[in-house]
Amino acid sequence: MRFSRLRLTGFKSFVDPTDLIINDGLTGVVGPNGCGKSNLLEALRWVMGETRAKAMRGGGMEDVIFAGASSRPARNFAEVSLHIDNADRLAPAGFNDHDHLEIVRRITRDVGSAYKVNSKDTRARDVQMLFADAATGAHSPALVRQGQISELINAKPKNRRKVLEDAAGIGGLYQRRHEAELKLKNTEANLLRVDDVVEQLA
Ligand code: ATP
Repeated sequence: MRFSRLRLTGFKSFVDPTDLIINDGLTGVVGPNGCGKSNLLEALRWVMGETRAKAMRGGGMEDVIFAGASSRPARNFAEVSLHIDNADRLAPAGFNDHDHLEIVRRITRDVGSAYKVNSKDTRARDVQMLFADAATGAHSPALVRQGQISELINAKPKNRRKVLEDAAGIGGLYQRRHEAELKLKNTEANLLRVDDVVEQLA
């Protein structure tokens, strides 16, 4: 499973459709200040399911939509699509039927985000799980933003352990455990209510 292409439309400074071909060996992006290097990395994190507007350097998620410039009006939506080469069939279960995966996230003003995988509507949670199970995702330590190395050097051991866990691909297991715990709590609360009802009937 390998990222092969990133396509941005109306995302931050990339107002016109822009393709980044991700060939083997691409490890970094260089360019003059303000040309959009960080925006590219943010687009990659965003399409993998980032939910924190702050991590996108915005106040709200709609701030990722092209906000307009002196010569161009603002856009109403932003879209990022990520193409994945799955010829090795290493994509996580549920997404492993195709040689090629295309994950699309689109945000529309006043509507919010929607995801598609190979043109099929998909829940945000399932897209996040796809990447977590593949040992990557919006929080992957493989995507190194500015200042991150010094943060890591100064991080507490617990936070450093998280980096190793993400690299080992067990982030998805933690998410599933958290969801199972929530379900268990709900079930326990329902059982208490059943006890109350039974008591009233007795
Ligand atoms: P540096 O090397 O200085 O960190 P960079 O190459 O990483 O710069 P980015 O931070 O990716 O550059 O891009 C910044 C540019 O993106 C700025 O010109 C900013 O105005 C523009 N930008 C950010 N959000 C939007 C938006 N929603 N609409 C239009 N332009 C935007």
